[in-house]
Amino acid sequence: QSFEDFKINNQLRNAITDLGFEKPTPIQEQAFSVIMSGKDMVGIAQTGTGKTFAYMLPILQMLPFSKELHPRVLVVVPTRELVVQVVEEIEKFGKYSSVRVTGVYGGTNMNRQKEALAQGADIVVATPGRLYDLVLCKALQLKSVKKMVIDEVDVMLDLGFRFQLTNIFDLLPERRQNIMFSATMTDEIEVLIHDFFRGTQKVSV
Ligand code: AMP
Repeated sequence: QSFEDFKINNQLRNAITDLGFEKPTPIQEQAFSVIMSGKDMVGIAQTGTGKTFAYMLPILQMLPFSKELHPRVLVVVPTRELVVQVVEEIEKFGKYSSVRVTGVYGGTNMNRQKEALAQGADIVVATPGRLYDLVLCKALQLKSVKKMVIDEVDVMLDLGFRFQLTNIFDLLPERRQNIMFSATMTDEIEVLIHDFFRGTQKVSV
């Protein structure tokens, strides 16, 4: 398959050309159409398979971003390093799309992150603990979230973030699309899917 099969817009096509991506990776081939169909999805894929772009291409393609204050896309990842990495990737993919992305994570002062969020963000990339704290102190509202992405959910659960994760799910609007990636499938992940996902499509590479 080629990127052209997915009817991508010019902004994305130009970003892909700049990045030198020639064709979709296997996880991208499978995930693009499922995510574009609007269904909830669980992807079993390792780091390095191109999973970040597997969810960001459809999201950047589908969502009209319109200078709202509150994020329409939430990406939750287990570590600060991953927040930084995913923000950088999204900035490259969204280079021509004027998408506003903000990363927030724990272990650092919350004020700068509050100020960044007050400027408005289309996409927020966050670790679960800090995300929950920012919601509790009303620096962040999740009522406009249309797409919820959880990356490396297996690592997140191993780090003990189950409580924060389920609390975050409870704050999201009913009508939303859920997307999750994990290196492996576990019983704990099945429970999350059962409790918070609907009509889930599974893909794996
Ligand atoms: P990830 O699995 O998301 O960490 O991606 C691993 C690396 O593959 C990143 O450096 C991406 O920029 C790169 N990448 C993603 N999609 C493609 C593609 N279709 N062709 C070539 N490289 C890609």
